[in-house]
Amino acid sequence: MALIETRGLRRVYNLDAGRVVALDHVDLDVENGDFLAVMGPSGSGKSTFMNLVGCLDRPTSGHYSLGGTTVERLDANGLAHLRNREIGFVFQQFNLLPRLDALANVELPMIYAGIDRKHRRERAIHALERVGLTDRARHRPMQLSGGQQQRVAIARALVNNPSLLLADEPTGALDSKTAEEILGLFQELNREGTTVVLVTHDADVGRHAGRLVRFKDGRVTEDSRQTPVLVPL
Ligand code: ADP
Ligand code: ADP
Repeated sequence: MALIETRGLRRVYNLDAGRVVALDHVDLDVENGDFLAVMGPSGSGKSTFMNLVGCLDRPTSGHYSLGGTTVERLDANGLAHLRNREIGFVFQQFNLLPRLDALANVELPMIYAGIDRKHRRERAIHALERVGLTDRARHRPMQLSGGQQQRVAIARALVNNPSLLLADEPTGALDSKTAEEILGLFQELNREGTTVVLVTHDADVGRHAGRLVRFKDGRVTEDSRQTPVLVPL
């Protein structure tokens, strides 16, 4: 069974000015272990797709299942529960809490998940190890470079062992060398088994994924496997 399965996925926004069909007839399977880049011009439906896949929004019609759970049947609580269990989010602007150090930022999702203090600490340290940032555990976001802040955000995204890492322009705020390092980290996590879906408008970023899906006017116009540009370890 695919981790992500969409059939005839459709999202229509109703506006005073009329209806906008943001996504239409999207049929997609994403397998466990995939590293998928979602690309397309502005307005092509990438954010709408990301919000649906991320269980932040529900389709107008069509089917979406994540890890075997049918998403369109869930109410807001069910959606939030599934999201917290299955998905780790990474954003362009890191979204770290400025007053908390790296370790405390990484511990946050585990507080919501009700994990006790001792295990929170252990797992946060382990997550920071995975992103190569143990020596910065006690630094606050402002004391870290952009790349280091994104590593903290990735550790935070991983700490509840999600089945999917969902990244929205994760390198958009970084210089090209740092962006390359972050893409290398995604590749490393993917080799260790994490499924990655990365939304980007940047072709240089998309080349690092093993599979490329392109949207135009709310439809998939390309879905191809590719040999990714590998970032050396
Ligand atoms: P992308 O992320 O590729 O730029 P979007 O998913 O944001 O594309 O947009 C797809 C289409 O849906 C566009 O025509 C956009 O204007 C429209 N759209 C996106 N979000 C909303 C919204 N919340 N309300 C109304 N229309 C929206
Ligand atoms: P954009 O790509 O349009 O600039 P963002 O990357 O900030 O937007 O967010 C993409 C989507 O994720 C939006 O629908 C937003 O509401 C949602 N979102 C943003 N931050 C968080 C968060 N910390 N947790 C969950 N959802 C978020």
